[in-house]
Amino acid sequence: MRTIVAGNWKMNTDRVSAAALIDALVKESASFGAEVEVIIAPPFPFLGMAVEKCAGTTIRVAAQNCHEAEKGAYTGEVSATMLRSIGVQACIAGHSERRQYFSESDARIGEKVAALLALGLTPIFCCGEKKEERESGRHFDVVTEQMKGALGRFSNAELERVIIAYEPVWAIGTGLTASNEQAQEMHAHIRALLHTHGASVADHVPILYGGSCNPSNAEGLFAQTDVNGGLIGGASLVAEHFLELVRIASDSKASRP
Ligand code: PEP
Repeated sequence: MRTIVAGNWKMNTDRVSAAALIDALVKESASFGAEVEVIIAPPFPFLGMAVEKCAGTTIRVAAQNCHEAEKGAYTGEVSATMLRSIGVQACIAGHSERRQYFSESDARIGEKVAALLALGLTPIFCCGEKKEERESGRHFDVVTEQMKGALGRFSNAELERVIIAYEPVWAIGTGLTASNEQAQEMHAHIRALLHTHGASVADHVPILYGGSCNPSNAEGLFAQTDVNGGLIGGASLVAEHFLELVRIASDSKASRP
């Protein structure tokens, strides 16, 4: 199973700080072990620069969102076709901030995943429950619904090209992290859902943890059987922290049977 550390920069950085952050990662990229895949998702205006700077390294560049249509009268939107044309290889779909602030439904997120898959881009599909949903014990049902609602339509071959990120909404940007046990039990649940499509899907799809993951809590999280790395927000904006997370993921992968 692949191990992945992906950085979601959200709406942060400017041209100068984005360039500096990418340069700091590129400088260290030769030391990234082959056992960990590193992905960065800068804001749209800096994607071209990121692709150019990361060329010749193992760092892959992702977008944070895309529109599901190929082109057309959707002012302000960016299509997967455009992303592919500049060398972007992956794209986050269904981040909880998109669900919350831009009312993205599971069906719409599924359309985005379909657009990405059709073009050979890797969707990083996000799911996760809100605080009240966990408190009322509905977290497994919520994640099941999100998975089925957005990914239910895809063939096994398509599903095998998806990366899943479990991101409990109450842990995103809050400093609250799922415990190792909470993360593992939800990742195992997601793995079991994937298994209903066949062992090959369950064996191929990496499930990343996201939600206030940082160098001080990553070791325990990344060591969980069904945690295959992390989707990192805040800590991905500080090169040393992100690089430390890559190292922790590498060590954790190396120590697995
Ligand atoms: C995210 O937004 O995907 C995320 C995990 O954020 P943070 O690490 O800041 O909680």
